[in-house]
Amino acid sequence: MSNILEAKDLNVEYLTRDGNIKAVDGVSFSLGFHETLGLVGESGCGKSTIGLSLLKILPINAKVSGNIFYKDKDMVKMPDNEIRSLRGKEISMIFQDPMTSLDPIMRIKNQFFETIRAHFPKMEESEMVKISSNVLKSIGIDPSRLENYPFEFSGGMRQRVMIALAIVLNPSLLVADEPTTSLDVVVQLQIMEVLKELKDQKDMSMVLITHDLGLVAEIVDKVGIMYAGNLVEFGDVDSIYDDPLHPYTQLLLVSIPNVKLEDMKLKYIKGNLPSLKSPPQGCKFHPRCPFAMDICLKADPPTFAVKGRKVKCWLYKGEKDGSRKTDTASIG
Ligand code: ATP
Ligand code: SF4
Repeated sequence: MSNILEAKDLNVEYLTRDGNIKAVDGVSFSLGFHETLGLVGESGCGKSTIGLSLLKILPINAKVSGNIFYKDKDMVKMPDNEIRSLRGKEISMIFQDPMTSLDPIMRIKNQFFETIRAHFPKMEESEMVKISSNVLKSIGIDPSRLENYPFEFSGGMRQRVMIALAIVLNPSLLVADEPTTSLDVVVQLQIMEVLKELKDQKDMSMVLITHDLGLVAEIVDKVGIMYAGNLVEFGDVDSIYDDPLHPYTQLLLVSIPNVKLEDMKLKYIKGNLPSLKSPPQGCKFHPRCPFAMDICLKADPPTFAVKGRKVKCWLYKGEKDGSRKTDTASIG
């Protein structure tokens, strides 16, 4: 077994009265043991849907096909009782908003006990206090705070508590969905530092979901760039940052604000994400792509293997070396 996680041709459709929304469209990726993957893309591109699929906690109107192998077992086909035994213990998740994820009327201590008891119902209270205290201490919160309620913490501390709850049973895989969205820039960096330390210290793989390509650069080993339900580029972090191949990745990188640049004008990707109910024919990025060709308007590009990466773009048809075909540096 070389990978902890392997998604193969994963499709998730939300069935609604007004039509079906293809939130995840034929996505494949793999994650090795102790590796961290950053799933990056604009709001609405299907990142959270992938995160929820990894714990099998999608809403009831979701229809899933394809495979998600966790330690070689296909979670898509796994019975509910087996999934329940993995959730929280083997695979855990940190959600976007700690205020809605933590129970506001329960002391932090009892929220830890609930999580632990779900898998170890007979554990003594003294043992649970010991485990909870240790994990809180490891992320920089004094164990005496176990007696507090969520409202007694600042936003950054609440998110630390969420992280502590997610790792209290030492999961092998941690899924973090926009863990810093509601925080200010300074606290965002502190939380990223906590996650980075966890990655270095723990025997854990991580999937980090974010819209901020700049924020995750220092933490992740691999990056998957999502656009309108598709994974358009996938590879190791350095090669994607140093030499992005897909036009969307290139534009995302030039859109990262950089206060050191002489030209302080903010760059952005023109246009909007297409409707996932009726996406454009051909490549879904073609209405916004500066390099769109005739074929892009007619046929959805397959995923090509280029320079050890996977790129879903017609520009790389027949290309193994991926000699740079585009220059988006001046666009924005
Ligand atoms: P964000 O960063 O804003 O959370 P995202 O990239 O994580 O966005 P998803 O939340 O996975 O994207 O949503 C993908 C698409 O699926 C969006 O168009 C969204 O509106 C739609 N969607 C999500 N949940 C449902 C649902 N339960 N029913 C119908 N459509 C849904
Ligand atoms: Fe642009 Fe065509 Fe590549 Fe799509 S397939 S990203 S439209 S060049």
